[in-house]
Amino acid sequence: MSARVQGSSSTLAVRNPRTGEVDCTIDRPSAPALGELARSLREHQRDWSALPVERRAEILKEWAGRLVGEPGEVLAALSTDTGRYALAAGEIRPLAGIVAAYATMAGKLLTDPGERASVTKGVGIRTQRVAYPLVGIISPWNFPFLLSMLDAIPALVAGCAVIVKPSEVTPRFIRPLMASLSAVPELAKVFALIPGDGVTGQALIGEVDFICFTGSVATGRKVAEACARAFIPACLELGGKDPAIVLPSADVGTAADVVLRGSVQATGQACQSIERVYVQRSIYEPFVAALVERAKAVELNYPDIHAGHIGPLIFERQATIIAEQLAEARAQGATVHCGGEIERHGGGAWIRPTVLTGVTHSMKVMREETFGPVIPVMPYDRIEEAIALANESDYGLSAAVFGEDEEACAVALRLNAGAVSINDGGLTTEVFDTEKDAFKFSGLGPSRMGPSGLLRFLRTKAILVQYGDAKTIADLDERLARRT
Ligand code: NDP
Repeated sequence: MSARVQGSSSTLAVRNPRTGEVDCTIDRPSAPALGELARSLREHQRDWSALPVERRAEILKEWAGRLVGEPGEVLAALSTDTGRYALAAGEIRPLAGIVAAYATMAGKLLTDPGERASVTKGVGIRTQRVAYPLVGIISPWNFPFLLSMLDAIPALVAGCAVIVKPSEVTPRFIRPLMASLSAVPELAKVFALIPGDGVTGQALIGEVDFICFTGSVATGRKVAEACARAFIPACLELGGKDPAIVLPSADVGTAADVVLRGSVQATGQACQSIERVYVQRSIYEPFVAALVERAKAVELNYPDIHAGHIGPLIFERQATIIAEQLAEARAQGATVHCGGEIERHGGGAWIRPTVLTGVTHSMKVMREETFGPVIPVMPYDRIEEAIALANESDYGLSAAVFGEDEEACAVALRLNAGAVSINDGGLTTEVFDTEKDAFKFSGLGPSRMGPSGLLRFLRTKAILVQYGDAKTIADLDERLARRT
């Protein structure tokens, strides 16, 4: 990804997304250093998992509260990593809420129900939840902080120790975040972030007991293969090509507002971005007009990082992918209504919201992940046609439907995706307390949200007691009840 520093096998150069300059270097940990870190985290995990869950939650709340209250250096570094300020602050702000949500959930899910009688006569059952000792998290560059914490927090609440390996494209926030942990020593003993690239990611797989990976399908496949060889579970959160369907009953202005936000927020560098829109022909023209009008009003956050709406493309290679998809779409007859060009400002790469019509599913822009603020819009006549087109994808991360509630929900039930927002887009990134799986190539493994987001880090152990003299289930139940 980033360039190697000449003459060094372990130092990596990091590009600034706003200036295009290399203004930072990171050193991959050596194999012995990574091994030693893993050994130390494992050792302290024993004490961490022995704490009552309420105490673990308290410690995490203390750290999160302090960080959200005074994000200072973490925010500054994250802002440089991503070339945006408001959104960097928006990545850190939800941390306290995520900790609180998992703490509440853990209180309900991890309460020991005690021993009970089995349906097998004379046998009593107890269950113990045993945390995986060490969880490795490999995270991408588009939301470097949030996509690390979404897995780290429930793993820590569950009683695991955690190592996070953020992307080498956005590693500046690691150092101040580690410094923030030093104020909470109990947490610092079981939680670490390490710099590094794919080589470090691979090495991490050999050191941990569980992997959470967020990134591309291509790397996700490699990670899953390596985890299979290491015989450890892997939760994969991968790419998307989210469709939106706009029904004739939709409010055109609202649908255009939300589609625009859902597509261009974070400059489209989000897995759950709306990347293709199917609009019923009776409202197609007013919808396109409303969308283009709104898209033209979106401003770049250049030259002032605190102004405007959207930041630069963080990873330079993404600019090439977007430009190639747009060139192919144009060559095959698509019309570009606004945006459409990679703009170079101050060494960074920007692109304005780009509305396309005249698109078909033979174009990459309708099939492959774009990861940019590009909104291709296609008309449909019958709803069957729209559903078939929405489902015609290798991906199945999430989707959106706009229209009268009941009608929109009926369409949602027929979409082959792990989550569907009705009259909104990407609601799943804000709603942490419901499970949602990733369908098709968008991922594998239990949901990172909701109860399974926590329970996936715990193995269930059964302790089965033979009470030879208990004649019936009722007998045993009575005896166990007397004991408590
Ligand atoms: P990549 O797959 O390129 O990288 C993801 C992480 O894996 C990075 O930390 C990367 O390190 C590391 N890595 C690279 N090679 C290996 C390897 N062989 N073994 C172990 N780790 C490795 O993804 P991007 O960073 O480009 O992120 C963008 C992708 O993430 C998009 O496809 C997007 O849709 C997806 N995504 C999915 C989300 C979801 O919840 N489903 C959320 C957000 C993004 P390095 O970068 O240092 O090479």
